[in-house]
Amino acid sequence: MTLAYVGLGANLGDPRRQLRAALDEIKGLPKTRMTASSSLYRSAPLDHVDQPEFLNAVAQIDTDLAPEALLDRLREIENRHRRVRPFPGAPRTLDLDLLLYGDATIASARLTVPHPRMHERAFVLQPLLELDSTISVPGKGLANTLLSACSSQKIERID
Ligand code: ADP
Ligand code: MG
Repeated sequence: MTLAYVGLGANLGDPRRQLRAALDEIKGLPKTRMTASSSLYRSAPLDHVDQPEFLNAVAQIDTDLAPEALLDRLREIENRHRRVRPFPGAPRTLDLDLLLYGDATIASARLTVPHPRMHERAFVLQPLLELDSTISVPGKGLANTLLSACSSQKIERID
């Protein structure tokens, strides 16, 4: 089993409902156990600022799925929530990113792990730290230190 982290985000439709449903769907993945999930967080969009605010969360899972198989399963969940991709960074009903997969470093055509932008995003780092206050991002350093560099990003924990 490998301890992995999945980042969830949504800013179209009913983001709270979609995140709760997605957490349930992650719980139901084969060969996988959800070991923890963070609170929900509200964050301002970072690029394309003229779009609704986001809700974000992070799930911690223990999985026997290989990284690319896990990515496929996450993509299936996004598709069930009618995720569309009209342009990069577009508003979305549901985004599921594979943030960390154990301490693996992966660079394939479809998958980069650690997720290539997670270390500079408060809406990833803060919920991640809620789950493990001493966690590091391989190649980047302590999440706690990385979060200090994101102090200009607005993020608020909600229930
Ligand atoms: P965003 O970067 O806004 O999350 P998408 O969800 O549309 O954009 O993902 C774009 C591409 O990123 C996908 O086709 C996927 O193959 C690739 N990708 C690479 N690494 C990862 C990862 N760690 N988690 C999720 N998607 C990834
Ligand atoms: Mg994504």
